[in-house]
Amino acid sequence: MNQSKLLSEIRQQFESQITQVPAILGGPAFWPQGAPARLLPRNEIADQIARALQGDQWAVYEGGEHAGLREDLAQRFPGRRPVLTSSGTVAIELALRAAGVGPGDEVLLAAYDFEANFKNVLAVGALPVLVDVVPECWTIDPLGLEAADSPRVKALIASHLHGQTPDWLRLRDLCQAREVVLIEDACQSPARYASCELLGAEINGESALQSHVGEQPVGEIVAFSFGGSKPITAGRGGAVLLSTERQEARLRLYTQRGNEAYPLSELQALVVRPQWRILATQDRHRWRQAMTIEAAWDELCGQRHVSNDRHDESFLVSLYKLGLWYEPEIWGGLSRARLVAAARAEGLPLAEGFQALHETHSSKRYRHAGDLVHASAAGRNVLQLHHTALSGSEEATREVMAILLKLKEHADQLQRD
Ligand SMILES: *Cc1c(COP(=O)(O)O)cnc(C)c1O
Repeated sequence: MNQSKLLSEIRQQFESQITQVPAILGGPAFWPQGAPARLLPRNEIADQIARALQGDQWAVYEGGEHAGLREDLAQRFPGRRPVLTSSGTVAIELALRAAGVGPGDEVLLAAYDFEANFKNVLAVGALPVLVDVVPECWTIDPLGLEAADSPRVKALIASHLHGQTPDWLRLRDLCQAREVVLIEDACQSPARYASCELLGAEINGESALQSHVGEQPVGEIVAFSFGGSKPITAGRGGAVLLSTERQEARLRLYTQRGNEAYPLSELQALVVRPQWRILATQDRHRWRQAMTIEAAWDELCGQRHVSNDRHDESFLVSLYKLGLWYEPEIWGGLSRARLVAAARAEGLPLAEGFQALHETHSSKRYRHAGDLVHASAAGRNVLQLHHTALSGSEEATREVMAILLKLKEHADQLQRD
């Protein structure tokens, strides 16, 4: 459908709500109940918990669910050695330790990335080397690896962020040539798919989709999160996929202290297992809603952003938060912070992106390779829309667009008051 037509339809359908005073200025919230509930296999989770409570297996250290989840992951990611952890943050730290990173080593990461990745490099005694991101795509620029060339560089952390994905094949080749361990931070995106399969009309029901799940990660070590806001959640938890016996041995030495030091419990493993099974169906739903919202966003902003073109490439990853590029000038100078506050008052789970790491840490804590201008821009301009906003019906997606339209139409007033 022609998008201008879509927006004018939305305008018409929600006219009375769009013209109301914004909630942050005292009007009624568009979504007083907040975003739709997250997509979860609730019945299966409830059944699993009920079954577990009939016995005491949930109350022990090793009751079978932990081992079962490891087995599920080993099957899903052939050739990998899964280790379950207490969080995604710890999964990254353990990935660094498994890679043998320690004092005197350097680790490359994007200057626009999750804060804990930077802290984890410091936690293992190594020096973060910050590199720039690809313009308007907020993922690490492989050119940074060339700029940072030094024999001290032992690993590179690259993250899937806000639905965008780094150039993995290029990163892999560059890392292999330099014997640098590539750590894939998949905490936001536990799965990847051929995009035509995930979105295309040629999908024949679930079975075709399921059979395609398992486009494999590229990183030599991969980290997942099952944290409380993520697409797969146990409230807390994570996993790391290792590739070699040596990595496993290093990790065992660190985490096995007479007992497991960073454990995932039986109950956590039990609620995570059914979520992997339906992930592809959820991802398809979220992406379809996201594509519509992105198109409306571009229309609202009067331009097409580079980031929104990248999904046409060969694969898509699970959607945790949809990244949107925001330029205040296009919204009459309305600051990003004010827009976010106004959106949240309407009940829309919109947030600012990360702060650029070089702008929030002392330069004594890191080295940087090359210019970090695009990372700075990402730190200023990225918005993230939480996946619950993409989890509802098509009608809910139309409401998301209506909220954005409402905010745009009141931008002057929001800025003034
Ligand atoms: C959430 C997240 C993590 C950490 O996961 P937790 O389970 O919340 O500790 C790491 N990296 C990225 C990119 C994330 O989004």
